[in-house]
Amino acid sequence: MKIRNITQIDRGVCAHVCPLCGEIHASAPEPDMMPEFSICRCDMMPGGEPRFLLEKSKDNAGWWVLSDRLNLVVIRFKERQFNETQRVSFLSDEMERHPDIRGIPRVLREMADWLVIRHRSVATNEPHGMEIDDDGRTVVYRGKFPRWRLTVEDGGASAGQIGSSMAKAAAFLRSLEGRRRMDGGSGGDF
Ligand SMILES: [Zn+2]
Repeated sequence: MKIRNITQIDRGVCAHVCPLCGEIHASAPEPDMMPEFSICRCDMMPGGEPRFLLEKSKDNAGWWVLSDRLNLVVIRFKERQFNETQRVSFLSDEMERHPDIRGIPRVLREMADWLVIRHRSVATNEPHGMEIDDDGRTVVYRGKFPRWRLTVEDGGASAGQIGSSMAKAAAFLRSLEGRRRMDGGSGGDF
């Protein structure tokens, strides 16, 4: 997983902390001194291929298929209803007779953790949420009308800084609406 978000882990210490496994990959006294990104291999196969795969179901419209290619486990779920609809199956008969059956809850938890960190908008039906894209950037989204997605380019921005900048963007959008009304509906270019 690519990590661009900078976390303040202590006074004068900021770091790239993997949101999935918690490992620290780079640290510096100031955000400006941090590398652009770090890569955590916890969601990769031993050969570097992605461990998790999320695809739309080919058989059922509105359903998704989440695969763990390392442990050969598949979870099918209805879009935005992961908790309510998840159905677990195994990609090989061998797995169902796996002697380490106690390991399976951990695998399922890791799959769910990856899903809500990387694809929260597909898993849950919250009106607003945040997820991390393939490039390690934070995406803030709105899941109901009018739906939108906003990609944060600066990894050093905190949720509070993003929020106050969005308040300014909201004021900008409302000013456009006001201007359009003053135009008497003539200017529809906004
Ligand atoms: Zn990790």
